[in-house]
Amino acid sequence: MDLDKLRLEAQELDRLDPLSHFRARFKVSDESLIYLDGNSLGRLVLQGALDAARAVEAEWGESLVRGWNEGWYERATVIGGKIARLIGAEEGEVVVSDSTSVNLFKLACAALKAKPSGAIITDTANFPSDLYILQGACKWLGRESDLVVVSGEEQIHYALQGVEDVALLTLSHVCFKSGFLYDAKDLTDWTHQRGGLCLWDLSHSAGSVPVELGKWGVDLAVGCTYKYLNGGPGAPAFLYVSRKLQDRLENPICGWFGQHDPFGFGTTYRPAPGIAKFLVGTPPVLSLTPIEAGVDVLIEAGLAAVRQKSIAMTDLLIRGWETGLKPLGVELETPRDPARRGSHVSFSLKDAYQIDQALINEFNVIPDFRAPDVIRFGVTPLYTRYGEAVDAVQRMNEAIQSGAASRYRPRGQAVT
Ligand SMILES: *Cc1c(COP(=O)(O)O)cnc(C)c1O
Repeated sequence: MDLDKLRLEAQELDRLDPLSHFRARFKVSDESLIYLDGNSLGRLVLQGALDAARAVEAEWGESLVRGWNEGWYERATVIGGKIARLIGAEEGEVVVSDSTSVNLFKLACAALKAKPSGAIITDTANFPSDLYILQGACKWLGRESDLVVVSGEEQIHYALQGVEDVALLTLSHVCFKSGFLYDAKDLTDWTHQRGGLCLWDLSHSAGSVPVELGKWGVDLAVGCTYKYLNGGPGAPAFLYVSRKLQDRLENPICGWFGQHDPFGFGTTYRPAPGIAKFLVGTPPVLSLTPIEAGVDVLIEAGLAAVRQKSIAMTDLLIRGWETGLKPLGVELETPRDPARRGSHVSFSLKDAYQIDQALINEFNVIPDFRAPDVIRFGVTPLYTRYGEAVDAVQRMNEAIQSGAASRYRPRGQAVT
């Protein structure tokens, strides 16, 4: 297999890479490990580790309950304001709270209350939790017959134009399995023309592709902070509600942090003004704190530069696949058009789970496996090197050729 030319090209790209110095901001304990799973869990940001330690030792340990008036109370809003800058929103439109799944439930219910009739459109490429949440919300609201689950962009357009009335379109902006990137502006426009609201899940796009919620006229969005935003395992998610809708929409979960005066301890719920009404309960301060450094480092690098490098790296992966993996029967699941893909490249292959295990256990590469037959290589421009993309393809070629699949049992681990 001749990946030598590609390797030389990668070396040159690394040499000229204006983002290369950002790798030093992250904890890298094993230089030979090729980590291609930042789309599932971003690396630890060194500043985030310091901030988390400070939150434990000084803030909790010394300030004790006074910590609430020394930064904890506003932290979810402050970090939300920083995330807003990465997704083209304004301060006051984004807040950190709960998990992506719970935020999706809150915002989907809010939208469906505002649009009491019409189709609720999504697609099978959406993240399973999102589909479950929608199924549950529709059941809860007695609107199961309104749920329309289609497959692919073309069918979404058919659905948008074919149904009598649209209440909500909700999709993952970048599809978790294939890496397909939707044209969010176009679909938002279409949904608005049909009278519906749009709710985008940005879990795989926040921090990896430029997002312009304001310019695109997006109504609602949710997303993860532990993937491309490097917030840490289980870090709370964010939610966005366009300022235009904040007065009109209601949070279905009325908790005290969404109340207008939580520490007034009144007995009747009255929503807070603005985005705060979409909060629910006490924020998880310790897992919230390190998100800030993860977001700061992306703001400093700039999304345009991040996207440019991401496209160049996914392009290397695709060209590497052409030479080193396609001849072995591995199929490409990700669009070749860079405008239509996010920051990961997916391959489908026989014995994908076993090959993924071999890569992790024998070849020092961490990609991930997604059932039934997909391996994803996620690239994260602030700490992935071009050379690593080419080496990963090389190692996957070797794993397949060495018959590694026969050394592993089929899927058994809880988390892949
Ligand atoms: C990762 C991901 C989630 C995760 O949701 P949690 O509630 O944080 O577990 C949701 N949606 C999409 C599209 C994702 O990629």
